[in-house]
Amino acid sequence: MASYTNTITQDTATLDTSQYAIELEYKYGAHNYKPMPVVLAKGLGVHVWDVEGKQYLDFLSAYSAVSQGHCHPDIVAAMIEQAQKLTLTSRAFYNDQLGECEKFLCEYFGYDKVLMMNSGVEGGETALKLTRKWAYKVKGIAPNKAKTVYASGNFWGRTLAAISSSTDPSSTDDYGPFLPGVILVPYDDLNALEDAFKNDPDIAGFMVEPIQGEAGVVVPQDGYLKGVRGLCTKYNVLFIADEVQTGIGRTGKRLACDWEGVKPDILVLGKALSGGTIPVSAALANDEIMLTIAPGEHGSTYGGNPLACAVTIAALKVVEDENLAENAELMGQLFRNKMLALQKQCSLIETVRGKGLLNAIVINDTEDSPTAMKLCYQMMDKGLLCKPTHGNKIRFAPPLVINEEQMNLACDIISGVFLDYKM
Ligand code: PLP
Repeated sequence: MASYTNTITQDTATLDTSQYAIELEYKYGAHNYKPMPVVLAKGLGVHVWDVEGKQYLDFLSAYSAVSQGHCHPDIVAAMIEQAQKLTLTSRAFYNDQLGECEKFLCEYFGYDKVLMMNSGVEGGETALKLTRKWAYKVKGIAPNKAKTVYASGNFWGRTLAAISSSTDPSSTDDYGPFLPGVILVPYDDLNALEDAFKNDPDIAGFMVEPIQGEAGVVVPQDGYLKGVRGLCTKYNVLFIADEVQTGIGRTGKRLACDWEGVKPDILVLGKALSGGTIPVSAALANDEIMLTIAPGEHGSTYGGNPLACAVTIAALKVVEDENLAENAELMGQLFRNKMLALQKQCSLIETVRGKGLLNAIVINDTEDSPTAMKLCYQMMDKGLLCKPTHGNKIRFAPPLVINEEQMNLACDIISGVFLDYKM
């Protein structure tokens, strides 16, 4: 296992070792991440291999982006085919892939229109800009007065707009001043939401994750999303569902909102939209909202590029063709059942929670304790990769293509590490 140093000590004969790659990143890259000390060089399905050739089960899936499995052959084939024809035109011109992809996305998710971007945070930013346009042009809020409500614990990315709604000091410290017009309410609290809506006619939207991923896979009570839908309709506020992490089969349905049969006014997607190949995100909405934005008012050089479009269609087809949502539901049940059984034998486990294949184990310890990280290191040694989110919570989110044998093996590794752990 390698450690961090600030000098490159290896010579060219050891260029392919983990230690060298880690030192290189440390010396030349910004220190804005602290990865686990494993250097991955290859991936296929649920597996990844490090530069020394050791195989791991990937139980993070690049934060749910690689839902279709690493290097899915259909997605890679679509990417190669398109890459050999046309990759980028900008939106100064039409391309022959964008309309097809937009049609596919609208029909797949049931909206009039889609606006394609790249990263997840740009999808969220697009939703926020649409909300403001709609507030002024349709709802009739006075200029520059529109506000948006978010739930505490939310995470929708790292731009200044995104961190302006963050309640996590590690995201916000020393980055102020922040975007105004932000109201925070507790997550999973419909009374607080209604109080906010009731008291402020300038509220235009409520952006919420159906399950809070980065906060530690926080699953709201049954009925929360239905309640949100009801309140947003009652107070003429847009319901913006951030399904960047929960969407596209991850929780056992096409969308996490489908668990309660609710349709958000704006749906934000990213991550698995491209199956972990290139960054693709999207905001979907009906015409009343989407057509408030006119040419030149929002966009991105790479948004809706032909390569992204070809990859997106292929990635979504894989989710359908391989019944990945159904598999996520089945494998998620298996995982939680085994982990709940483990909890009975292991006092380290405070809670097991999640839906489909978005799950977490909360460690019976304080948030700042290193226990969760130490457990992740030990699981890594045994061939399973995962990482804590917010101190004492370990997220388990493998690719949705995982089969029963692989899940049983993973649960054996996790159980072994938890049962052998010495405080
Ligand atoms: N929204 C949610 C719910 C996320 O979990 C994330 C990333 O983890 C984002 C938005 C931001 O996506 P990206 O990192 O692609 O900008």
